Amino acid sequence: MAFEGLSDKLAAAFKKLKSKGRLNEDDIKVAMREVRLALLEADVNYKVVKDFVKDVSARAVGADVLESLTPAQQVIKIVNEELCRLMGSENARINIPSKPPCIIMMCGLQGSGKTTHSAKLAKHFRSQGHRPLLVACDVYRPAAIDQLKVVGAKAEAPVFELGQIDPVQIAQKAVAHAKDHGNDIVILDTAGRLHIDEELMNELKNIKSAVSPNEILLVVDSMTGQDAVNVAQSFDETLGIDGVILTKLDGDTRGGAALSVLAVTGKPVKFAGIGEKLEDLEPFHPERMASRILG
Ligand code: GDP
Repeated sequence: MAFEGLSDKLAAAFKKLKSKGRLNEDDIKVAMREVRLALLEADVNYKVVKDFVKDVSARAVGADVLESLTPAQQVIKIVNEELCRLMGSENARINIPSKPPCIIMMCGLQGSGKTTHSAKLAKHFRSQGHRPLLVACDVYRPAAIDQLKVVGAKAEAPVFELGQIDPVQIAQKAVAHAKDHGNDIVILDTAGRLHIDEELMNELKNIKSAVSPNEILLVVDSMTGQDAVNVAQSFDETLGIDGVILTKLDGDTRGGAALSVLAVTGKPVKFAGIGEKLEDLEPFHPERMASRILG
């Protein structure tokens, strides 16, 4: 599970602090050095680590902490609060407009989990009483359309496809189809590439301007660590995104992406993918993640 290494290292640093009883500034400095290393080893963006340690240190050397009866506990509490703040102080959700359909455009690199998470979202919305329509806009690989049909059937959501024609047209027709058929949510599964390239970005921009999505969600693979954050930054700069779905948090990812995405891009993680099955989707809760990290 994600964060194992980070959790162990933070626990070790805090154990030392707790064994000391009273603390002075030097004790805090030593502990913060260990926190810094633990975060860097977990693949958290270096600038994010620097700011994090600075913020925690500034609060931890205050008289209210050092002179308290349980200074180590106070430091841990501060780390917990700052971790939550880093990942987002409020739970970021998808804003469903009052006038349907809500158009969600899924984008991301190939293999990040876009198709799987389109279906996971469809299942999630169905369980809330919505009627999502899945749309096959990834037209370059015929297998991608078939894959969406397979996962769509599992999610019990209809799949709209027009074969391998212009994805902009498919998106437009899908929105019209949704209006005619009472689908209040449209989930566009767009094409991914192995790397960000101009052609892909242009296609995504064209789909965006043709259907004006309510949400552009970027799917990133947490196993790719810092790369996941770089990808998020590039997509946000060129296309503009509303949030991130962080996938494969069940694997042995070091978790750095979860801690860096919001600070680097200003865009929140909205969902976490925690397995290959369609029910393995969680709304992203910063407090829950923080307590998972702090054990
Ligand atoms: P796409 O190319 O972006 O559409 O990616 P896919 O949806 O085809 O997913 C790529 C692979 O990652 C598939 O084998 C999925 O089963 C797997 N996958 C997707 N999400 C998760 C996840 O949250 N956890 C795990 N363990 N595997 C995932």
